[in-house]
Amino acid sequence: MKKTPFVSLNTAREIAREIPTPFHLYDEAGIRKSVRALKAAFSWNPGFKEYFAVKATPNPYILSILKEEGCGVDCATYTELLLAQACGMSGKEVMFSSNVTPVEDMQKAYEMGAYINLDDASYVDFMEHSCGIPTSVCCRYNPGGSFSCGNTIMDMPRDSKYGMTEDQMAGVFTRLMKLGVKNFGIHALLASNAVGNEYYPEVAGKLFHLAVRLRNATGANISFVNLSGGIGVDYRPEQPQCDIAVVGAAVQQKYMQILAPEGMGDVAIFCELGRFLLAPHGHLVSTVLHQKHIYKTYIGLDACAANLMRPAMYGAYHHISVLGKEEAILDHVYDVVGGLCENNDKFAIDRSLPGVDIGDMLVIHDTGAHGFSMGYNYNGKLRSAEVLLREDGSFQKIRRAETPEDYFSTFDFSEFSF
Ligand SMILES: *Cc1c(COP(=O)(O)O)cnc(C)c1O
Repeated sequence: MKKTPFVSLNTAREIAREIPTPFHLYDEAGIRKSVRALKAAFSWNPGFKEYFAVKATPNPYILSILKEEGCGVDCATYTELLLAQACGMSGKEVMFSSNVTPVEDMQKAYEMGAYINLDDASYVDFMEHSCGIPTSVCCRYNPGGSFSCGNTIMDMPRDSKYGMTEDQMAGVFTRLMKLGVKNFGIHALLASNAVGNEYYPEVAGKLFHLAVRLRNATGANISFVNLSGGIGVDYRPEQPQCDIAVVGAAVQQKYMQILAPEGMGDVAIFCELGRFLLAPHGHLVSTVLHQKHIYKTYIGLDACAANLMRPAMYGAYHHISVLGKEEAILDHVYDVVGGLCENNDKFAIDRSLPGVDIGDMLVIHDTGAHGFSMGYNYNGKLRSAEVLLREDGSFQKIRRAETPEDYFSTFDFSEFSF
């Protein structure tokens, strides 16, 4: 689908007068709309709950909007748990899906009363020694082999470090029941950025069958199935969009076919979507600083890979719009680059754009998830501000940009002077 920025040139300029570019901009109306569509798609399941993956967009203002819409959070670390707590979330509003877990992290999750999602069978002992055994426990499943949707191989679970085998899960359930656990959940994340409608129904089918087998093998009460994250977005305009209503209905069909006839029609569906809910509702807004003509033509931005790592790291495509030139003909070809001393610091290579001038404002699309959060400080590049475009059209700074003082703050500078 054609990609249009959710911000106009005038509004972007108005924001930039107060908060210099580059900054990450989030669209509150869009975020709320996506959550509501997700909840509507799963309204057939009374226990349904979304646990937003904090790592995608770890900002308390964003998490609070999601909380208002009825979401919980999925945390993987001590710091993410602290962030959840700061947003007033605890208990069954928090899923703790960690791996290679430090003791303090496990203890914090236990103290907060979070659902603990065990990555390995050895974590029963680890949890018992670290904190204790809660009454509800989730286990992460790794089916091994390859994972396909239709004829397409999506990923190779056998090469993935996450989760445990079915036999191990059965052993864990049996042991945990003896230790007093009453309710169990099962979880799997088998693909990332799976575009289209097929991924969730496929995972749901696998996990529903697994739930029936585990219940039959162990007698455990399975109270939820966590479909985790993994639904993708159309980073490229020509890619299909996920229709979450279709996905919800297809998962319901699997539920009715597999769980309901087994007397498991009370199992709640949980998910931990990050990208699907947030990515389309974020822009990285940047200004053109330089233009150079050598063997190719380069557009140099004030943003760089330290603000958005996906193109440099994965060669990921992010659509780019030139504000004020949205309808102009794409009659130029550019490499759009940042200023890191790394030749992979390129947001786009050989991209068709309208003629770009120094001072133009560019929007890099679909940066609302795994954008700011993957940022880093290479070359002393500082993290940008984050700005929320409110539903009423006003804007709010929800994180200030870093300063050199922030960058140096972990040194003891008593022996140096500036
Ligand atoms: C990263 C992650 C998610 C979110 O993934 P998206 O691709 O953003 O949907 C959910 N759950 C777990 C355990 C994750 O590691």
